[in-house]
Amino acid sequence: MKKNLSQKGENKASVPQKKNSGNREIVVLTYLMTILLLSLAVYFGYYLTVRSSLVINSTYNKRSELLENKILRGSIYSSDGEVLARTVSDEMGTSKREYPFGSLFVHVLGRYTHGKTGLELSENFNMLRSNINPVVKIANELQGKKNPGDNIFTTLDTRLQKAAAEALGSYRGAVVAMEPDTGKILAMVSKPDYDPDGLDAETWDLLTADEQGEARLLNRATQGVYPPGSTFKILTALEYMREHKNYKKYQYDCTGNDVFGEVKIKCYGDSSHGLVDLKTSFLKSCNTSFANIGMTLDKGKFRELCDSFLFNTELLLPFSCSQSSFVLDKASKEEELPQTAIGQGKTGITPMHNAMITAAIANGGILMKPYFVDRRENAYGETISKTVPSEYATLMTKKEALQLTDYMKAVVESGTASSLKGTDYQAAGKTGSAEFDSSGKTHAWFVGFAPADNPEIAVSVILEEAGSGGTYAVPAAKKVLDEYFKNN
Ligand SMILES: [Zn+2]
Repeated sequence: MKKNLSQKGENKASVPQKKNSGNREIVVLTYLMTILLLSLAVYFGYYLTVRSSLVINSTYNKRSELLENKILRGSIYSSDGEVLARTVSDEMGTSKREYPFGSLFVHVLGRYTHGKTGLELSENFNMLRSNINPVVKIANELQGKKNPGDNIFTTLDTRLQKAAAEALGSYRGAVVAMEPDTGKILAMVSKPDYDPDGLDAETWDLLTADEQGEARLLNRATQGVYPPGSTFKILTALEYMREHKNYKKYQYDCTGNDVFGEVKIKCYGDSSHGLVDLKTSFLKSCNTSFANIGMTLDKGKFRELCDSFLFNTELLLPFSCSQSSFVLDKASKEEELPQTAIGQGKTGITPMHNAMITAAIANGGILMKPYFVDRRENAYGETISKTVPSEYATLMTKKEALQLTDYMKAVVESGTASSLKGTDYQAAGKTGSAEFDSSGKTHAWFVGFAPADNPEIAVSVILEEAGSGGTYAVPAAKKVLDEYFKNN
């Protein structure tokens, strides 16, 4: 029946065949033209959104310079409304980038001259876009006036940033403070630093020559890879908990030093901790007990845990961060276990990554993706785009997070972070004193969060070559936490 109908149709159509074939050509041509136009439109759309942002964001290029002639580069603000970076023009039309806080934010903001870095690079395109009324925009252009670029509002708090910088004092090192339940970075300081304001050729030469070996251009918070020291016992304890369901029954008698295979392990500062369980080993940061725990662990599974905690992988963040490394695997020799279990050996971590792990524990096991840019606004103060907090990964179960929190509370209550004891905000955390060469000197670490039972802020602090974590990093972290809870 269907076939007949179709034949009938063909027969009918055979009469005005010529005209119909002409129509068909027009239809085909129209389609072709439409496809061509559509693909052009798609390409231009792609160019405008993707390609042009790539082109504009490449550090040295003419297009960016051309745009800067038409747009007054947008400003960067803190979360408390302070201007962190702005462009000012004099009467001659010469513009200059200013940083009202000098060096305080340099490692996050980056620099505008000598090759853009930091937010000056990653937000370059957004600050060179002007989302004001198009009519006003054209009128400005016709008068040869620059249009105001969009402004960037960061998650950074100036009071907390100042407290973090003061906490580091004259030490080299880094502080990261973030909100566990959103991923907002509230403060990030790396020292030593430099002033990006009016960075002249002479200063730049000194910075790049780096005769003192200070690496002032380096953002230690994201690019510095350090031995985690005893902060790593968090992961060793978690792996032990996963492999041994009866971990609460664990016992070890610490005499201050012990030999594992052929590796001698000592407790910090020649302490001997006596009979300890897992919790006491953790709160006293007992090296020999953790080396003993390490010897029981399955190397392959330990590696899997660290890989799932984002070691040995590029962190997918809106800013660049060095990879942390954990090299132990099932083929490794037994003798690597005791050192690895106490965060020495070949393991390396960035202060940012350590902050993320800590924030995940504070957030019931869920790691939120860290970010600096809260929103972008046009010159009228209207929001153009806003960052919605998103989950990066689930690192552990809620039960595991609560168990680790309990241990980390004990570190403050009766362990190595006792200088945080007695505060209104009741912190939890883990100290570390990380050896980095054979000199016996240590980097002082502290990672933690507060309030322990309802965390609002997580911190990661490292003071290079300062000494023990408990003596140096904990008081530094306390300054940051005190400042936060004074205002919140
Ligand atoms: Zn011990």
